[in-house]
Amino acid sequence: MTTNEPVALSFRDNVDLMVDHAIRIMGLEEGMGNALKACNTVLQVSFPVEIDGKPEMFTGWRAVHSDHRLPSKGGIRYAPEVNQEEVEALAALMTYKCAIVDVPYGGSKGGLCIDPRKYTRSQLESITRRFARELANKGFLSPAKNVPAPDMGTGQREMGWMADTYRQLFPDDINYIGCVTGKPVGYGGVRGRNEATGRGVQYAMREYFRHFDVVKEAGLTPGLGGKRIIIQGLGNVGYHAALFLSTEDNCLITAVIERDGALINPDGLNIHDVHEHMIEHGGVKGFPGAKYVEDGASVLEHDCDILIPAALEGVIHGDNAEGIKAKLVVEAANGPITYEADAILQKRGVEIIPDAYCNAGGVIVSYFEWIRNLAHVRFGRIEKRFHETRGAHIISAIELATNTPVPDWVRKEIVRGADEFDLVRSGLDDTMRLAFQEMVEVRRTNHQVRDLRMAAYVIAIEKISRSYLDIGY
Ligand code: GLU
Repeated sequence: MTTNEPVALSFRDNVDLMVDHAIRIMGLEEGMGNALKACNTVLQVSFPVEIDGKPEMFTGWRAVHSDHRLPSKGGIRYAPEVNQEEVEALAALMTYKCAIVDVPYGGSKGGLCIDPRKYTRSQLESITRRFARELANKGFLSPAKNVPAPDMGTGQREMGWMADTYRQLFPDDINYIGCVTGKPVGYGGVRGRNEATGRGVQYAMREYFRHFDVVKEAGLTPGLGGKRIIIQGLGNVGYHAALFLSTEDNCLITAVIERDGALINPDGLNIHDVHEHMIEHGGVKGFPGAKYVEDGASVLEHDCDILIPAALEGVIHGDNAEGIKAKLVVEAANGPITYEADAILQKRGVEIIPDAYCNAGGVIVSYFEWIRNLAHVRFGRIEKRFHETRGAHIISAIELATNTPVPDWVRKEIVRGADEFDLVRSGLDDTMRLAFQEMVEVRRTNHQVRDLRMAAYVIAIEKISRSYLDIGY
């Protein structure tokens, strides 16, 4: 049977279209383009786990899009709608993401078809440990080859179970703890990983507002402070981004869109309180001091300066792109804007900070965690006290030379040695700044590149294809 209904493009189609566009701009030969886009390997596993006395079957995937750098890296998501195509598209995004921010990994992603809210903690532990065993036995979980991390529906707890399962299987691997990242800090995790993706979004936005000409071009007034922001999704990424932007940068979060509806308050919502309410009531409905709207998606089109989709793929599409009022869309989620919507927004002059750059904070800090795991030492442990002593000597020298006491707050800043949090944040901030500057430079110098997404892809593809040419396909 044939129909005239347009066929909806899949998430992978959308990613491929954007990459094709970049490949055309770069004039890469077709063979190289195909090599870049292909997903190298996909593992599908189906396994039973006993749930309430009966075996229940679970299906999951781990896709390796590229292994030009090893290990291949990317999260594992637990969601009922996970499928192989989505996992492959997300694995491809990981390849580009790592290249843009100079994290020396290939791209991978995993998914398990499950609604984690329907299972108890101990059932989830059995399921996760069994999934980890399947992955490890087939070479898809290892500190050298493939290193998962948290994603939608998973967190520190699941990563801890995975690392422990790997350790039991391979007790002789001295680097076993680096087989996953995003672990609890007490079990090989690094401080600052949990907040990293949201923190990275904040650093990306701060860097954006340092580029006055770019800000002006988008029709925004200078300065991040005071900007009215609508955010979709208060999961790990959205929550941290919204919290930091409102409490540290004086932004007003004028609306929060969640599964069960949206909250609106033009004076700005208290993100901490909204989050507490969500934990207690399972949604945003009933939060005092804000207007509640049941049709959450409609709020994407409300008036604001900045829109941050931090939840799902494809939420800004051909049917609502014309209605988006924001001048800047910050893609904290993976793939929230379809290829079609991207073109519409661009035509309307809406600036987009693209996902592959914007939400890279997670994998950047994962990289730091992995380095810490291979080094078997906490960042700052060796040099902190040395720097503090040197700082104290500098203060004494200044006081001796000037015969004036140094104010207490200056003394504190100079004498304090950096701890792990400071170092992780500094490394993340620096990486986000440099990558943004590189994107702006490509857009400035390559006249075929008009938007930051294309700039990001051109940078990524340039780096990956160079490494293919250097070492062969
Ligand atoms: N799941 C996160 C992402 O999509 C983190 C991946 C990682 O840390 O490896 O970027």
